[in-house]
Amino acid sequence: MGKIYIIDVTNRDGVQTAKLGLSKLEKTIINLYLNEMGIFQSEFGFPTTHHESHYLRANLELAEMGVLKPIRLEGWMRAVAEDVELCFKRVPEIKHLNLSISTSDQMITGKFLGTKNQQDIINMMVEALEAARAHGAETVGINAEDGSRTSLEFLVRFGLAAREHGATRLRYCDTLGYDSPFTIYDTARNLAENIGLPIEIHCHGDLGMAVANSIAGAKGAIDGGQDAYINTTVNGVGERAGNADLVAVLLAVTKARGFGEQYRLGNEIDLTKSWRIARFASYAFGVPIPINQPGVGANAFAHASGIHADGVLKDPDNYELYGFEELGRGEPEIVDTGREISTGQYSGISGFRYVMDEIEGEEAIHFRDAEEAERVLELVRYANVLAQKPLVEDELLFIARHPDIARQLLTMTPLD
Ligand SMILES: [Zn+2]
Repeated sequence: MGKIYIIDVTNRDGVQTAKLGLSKLEKTIINLYLNEMGIFQSEFGFPTTHHESHYLRANLELAEMGVLKPIRLEGWMRAVAEDVELCFKRVPEIKHLNLSISTSDQMITGKFLGTKNQQDIINMMVEALEAARAHGAETVGINAEDGSRTSLEFLVRFGLAAREHGATRLRYCDTLGYDSPFTIYDTARNLAENIGLPIEIHCHGDLGMAVANSIAGAKGAIDGGQDAYINTTVNGVGERAGNADLVAVLLAVTKARGFGEQYRLGNEIDLTKSWRIARFASYAFGVPIPINQPGVGANAFAHASGIHADGVLKDPDNYELYGFEELGRGEPEIVDTGREISTGQYSGISGFRYVMDEIEGEEAIHFRDAEEAERVLELVRYANVLAQKPLVEDELLFIARHPDIARQLLTMTPLD
């Protein structure tokens, strides 16, 4: 029986969202947290975009070093042969790709303005796929953009062509959040049965159903005889109303009535990292976590009314489906209410050493000499220029531990 794997697309769909973005260091920290959680794959960026090159190559180096392992790092681009060529020119070490092209009549007509028909779409995809394989890509997923407004007949034809030319998976994109759990189940099952490739489920929340659609689609793919790969983003950050939230999807798969007994995750996930990744993404994006967000919202385990408070005090199972400890919540958070010293783009050495000395325990960093401390501080200044807000402890520790990688992440050379 097929299994469910998670491909997180925060560093692609999340960062391409209007009004939102992450620094390259923040993207790297997201990859590290995803890896620690046990997420199968991170769609870590855009290999054809010039300002991503240093970041992508530095993260692939971290993978090579064993720091970002076993997570797979996969780059996203258009299913256009020239894009694939450019990708391997800029990021030659990349091994996993996702190639995206619109498949619906609406988009074929509305975006290509009459210059392309369905066969042209298949041809473009196949040409890009063959280019990726010629460059030695180990896995190539093919994205059917606007899949939910594409005829099933064409999706199957498109998927079969992808399979025939060596694609690893088909990504069914409900780009506009148009599906319901009923329709996406049928479609995913059909695609799995008729194409014979693992199916990725990519959902958006325009009708408030991204998480529900994700597990319904995964069930369809598995009932159709294939593995299912659910696309998520941290806190559901993504285009318009957002994507399927990572933590909510994991909770839905493992806690929903009867679901997890039959449909299982393909690898072990450490849910206790949920709180940290959700909090970090909220800080990095500058977007508060909604008070009622599943698992990580401020009210997710809050009880005030008499009947509920009494019930939960007698036995948490009376009013809680899962425990806060399972998500890594419950540790007190210390907030300075008096003097505060943080790092910034104009920080000096004594303030920086004070901040680093505050990090205690196993994590503590001891600089060899003043020169090393100065070098790390200079990198911290640059990281602040890009983030425009104080760095969190894990960012400071990352820079101190991997200064050479940090330098690559912070290097921006436009028009080069
Ligand atoms: Zn999307």
